[in-house]
Amino acid sequence: MALGLPSTMPGGARTIRELLAAGGRSFSFEFFAPKSEAAEVAFWQTMRDLERLQPTFVSVTYGAGGTTREGTVRLTEGIARDTTLTVVGHLAAVAHSVAELRNVIGQYADAGVRNFLALRGDPPGNPQGEWVQHPEGFAYAEDLVRLIRTHGDFCVGVAAFPDKHPRSPDLETDARFLARKFQAGADYAITQMFFHADDYLRLRDRVAASGGTAPIIPGIMPVTNVRQIQRFAQLTAADFPEPLAQRLLAVEDDPEAVRAIGVEVATELCERLLTEGVPGLHFITLNKSTATREIYQNLGVGALS
Ligand code: FAD
Repeated sequence: MALGLPSTMPGGARTIRELLAAGGRSFSFEFFAPKSEAAEVAFWQTMRDLERLQPTFVSVTYGAGGTTREGTVRLTEGIARDTTLTVVGHLAAVAHSVAELRNVIGQYADAGVRNFLALRGDPPGNPQGEWVQHPEGFAYAEDLVRLIRTHGDFCVGVAAFPDKHPRSPDLETDARFLARKFQAGADYAITQMFFHADDYLRLRDRVAASGGTAPIIPGIMPVTNVRQIQRFAQLTAADFPEPLAQRLLAVEDDPEAVRAIGVEVATELCERLLTEGVPGLHFITLNKSTATREIYQNLGVGALS
């Protein structure tokens, strides 16, 4: 299916806000900071492989503590400095004082980063554990959105949850909190992974009903490892479809077969979402390029070598 979609920022647009306001669609890739030298070599190789697809932006998730956080900032700076890619700086408020957050914003800005993803983060060690606010920090992502906006004319994104955030009491309340993040100055949102297009579409409707008008970019995680995805789905409270789990478990010892099913299912989800007029697609790559490249090829997005 060739959709002939624009995959790059048109007319030299500087931020994701400008791209989306101009009616463009965003195609982006998310990575995590590798924990060993060998994994970092693979990270850069994947980055180079995916650079050829000319994504709108790439990003590196912000770790839970000390060295992984420094790794995220170093890699984000490296992408800004050494590649042709636009990079979004992830920043999580958890376990940071406001002064430390200001410092990281300054580091990103010095490296030329203009686009941010402002997050609260989860409790370090146990993501499902009790949330404790840093005594000199923030309680919610919306406070971080305001802080980043006071530092300059940055474009700021936030997290959204089609299956609701696990700590939110219900879907309506969750959507109201997302609308609040937009009112605090967020320009766009990226969703947690999800498996049913209708869950995304209902979130979009709920947020619009709550007065939220900013674009919500769906987050797509192609299944390449069934046990890993089931673990993620459990942590994020995403509704992993049982028939899909059964189909994948039947071939779980054959990585090629698992990936083929993962690519097929993710392609179908992306096609439906594009038909519904989504403002873009954000691929959670897990630092691997093959599945994302295959979905891109199926969708007819960008140039493949
Ligand atoms: P918030 O928006 O602050 O929400 C946290 C909880 O508080 C929710 O239950 C919400 O409903 C509630 N809430 C929000 N506002 C209010 C309010 N005003 N009053 C009362 N309750 C409120 N985590 C990382 O550590 N690093 C990353 O790089 C990272 N990247 C991510 C990328 C994406 C696309 C997504 C979807 C998530 C990412 N996360 C990351 C995970 C995220 O940090 C967690 O899901 C976290 O638990 C919630 O973060 P948030 O920014 O949505 O927080």
